[in-house]
Amino acid sequence: MATIDSRRRITADRRDFLNYRVMCPFCQETVGPRFVTREHLDVQPSPPYAATVRCPRCKEEFEVIFAAGT
Ligand SMILES: [Zn+2]
Repeated sequence: MATIDSRRRITADRRDFLNYRVMCPFCQETVGPRFVTREHLDVQPSPPYAATVRCPRCKEEFEVIFAAGT
């Protein structure tokens, strides 16, 4: 996997994301549900799910995969 691709896919605890404690991998801005552009319900191997997020500061898009309680 290329470097840019791995930066565009991060893993986060869902609760952290809901509480705006997840940082943009490009500029370290904190992001949360307000910046979701698309939700994915079909991410393997096991949902809950993932979401595409657009950073409000640097405008980069990346995918947040929600990990089970870390
Ligand atoms: Zn950013």
